[in-house]
Amino acid sequence: MSTNVRPLIAGNWKMHGLEASLAEARALAQALAAEPSSARVALCPPATLVRDMAQALAGSAVLTGGQDCHVEVSGAFTGEISAEMLADAGAALVILGHSERRAMRGESDADVAAKVGAALRAGLEPIVCVGETLAEREAGKTLDIVRRQTEGSLPSALAGTAFSVAYEPVWAIGTGLTPTLDQIEEVHAAIREVLARTLGEAGRAAPILYGGSVKPSNADEILKAREVGGALVGGASLKCADFLPIVRAAG
Ligand code: PEP
Repeated sequence: MSTNVRPLIAGNWKMHGLEASLAEARALAQALAAEPSSARVALCPPATLVRDMAQALAGSAVLTGGQDCHVEVSGAFTGEISAEMLADAGAALVILGHSERRAMRGESDADVAAKVGAALRAGLEPIVCVGETLAEREAGKTLDIVRRQTEGSLPSALAGTAFSVAYEPVWAIGTGLTPTLDQIEEVHAAIREVLARTLGEAGRAAPILYGGSVKPSNADEILKAREVGGALVGGASLKCADFLPIVRAAG
């Protein structure tokens, strides 16, 4: 871990979770009340659970986040949810530019940058995801891709705000595969260089999370790697029994 900013351990529930799943969030909050963590902790449930989760976690150490937002405040956009609606429901953060949205919804860097602007407008803290595909890594393009995504997805409006970047190699998400620590450190250093150059102090301070098959058994070594300022966790964030040890690994 590296910057002086507290690490962030965020869980992305993706399209998982019914009302009964809030018991996992409550159990996490209770465990952190009994033994606080030095990390900031967040859970990002599907939109249907944001308000209930935020209410269940009110006053606890666990923040609630969204998984995406629309760029407009409101309007004729059937099925979409604005950053203001997430904030109104109690969200404090929002994941933007997740590779599943980049791949399945064709989101470009410019789209993600516009969503970051919307998140800031609504007072949400963005977690901006970047990461290469396996083909891009095998073609030796990882650093080019990640630099391009970081430059293109993080607008200058982020200077002076709190945000984080999540490096999530697409081939590591949900596969059980993880990059070597050297590979993680190499990419995080490249992201830091871009952030510092483009966003100054905010870019030097922002935590750079690692995401992709983080689990209790590998969290400790990943979180100790240089420039790793936390984790974005998918599958292992659904159960408190899996997520809590990852939070504990952050200190
Ligand atoms: C994710 O999709 O953000 C993620 C990191 O998933 P997993 O931890 O399941 O690989």
